[in-house]
Amino acid sequence: MSIWKWQPGFWPTSCLLCAARAPAGKNLCPECERSLPRVEAACPRCAAHGAVMGADRAPCGECQKDPPAFVFTRAAFRYAAPVDRLIQNLKYHGRLELSRLLGEYLAAYLQALNDPLPDTVVPVPLHSSRLRERGYTQSLEIARFVARALELPLNWKDAQRIRATTPQTELPRDRRRGNVRGAFTAGPAFAGQRVAIVDDVMTSGHTADALADSLLRSGAVEVRVWVVARA
Ligand SMILES: [Zn+2]
Ligand SMILES: [Zn+2]
Repeated sequence: MSIWKWQPGFWPTSCLLCAARAPAGKNLCPECERSLPRVEAACPRCAAHGAVMGADRAPCGECQKDPPAFVFTRAAFRYAAPVDRLIQNLKYHGRLELSRLLGEYLAAYLQALNDPLPDTVVPVPLHSSRLRERGYTQSLEIARFVARALELPLNWKDAQRIRATTPQTELPRDRRRGNVRGAFTAGPAFAGQRVAIVDDVMTSGHTADALADSLLRSGAVEVRVWVVARA
């Protein structure tokens, strides 16, 4: 039996990472849960970690030089082991059931932060060609659980990716911004709304920036970003 098999319910289950016994209703054992890479000091704007932050929590150099279209980013984890493996399994190995685990961790993180809530949740859309290939949009699958936990409406129809783009991770840093510029379009449904973009991973932040830009152009009044993990 694969250790990745989803085991819902209230009875003791096996840990999705190490197959040890997990407490009832949990999908990770306490040891694996403690090993999840939490974000320590991070840029309040883009959640870039590792930077030395002053007491004033000033944004990182990148954000000061070229502020993104979103106002802030919340990342539940760093993109490091074992979260990277969970996300890769969701994205590239059809482990759709992991969206629940990741979505619920993100929701729990957001609930603990207690930010004022936005009006709507928008998953980063895939281009139709990639959606056909993968069969599902991982950000949407994660966003379903986040929206449900926070009791927010989920809008996965009114923002679209109109241009197929090379995955950001396959490009050098200096080509990432141009790669996603103009990749998204957003409809009038977002006029006057505060929007939270949901994605699995933020790498450079340019994808979220491009989507936030199109949401603001369509009338959204504020855009923030919620991601499971920040690279
Ligand atoms: Zn474990
Ligand atoms: Zn930053």
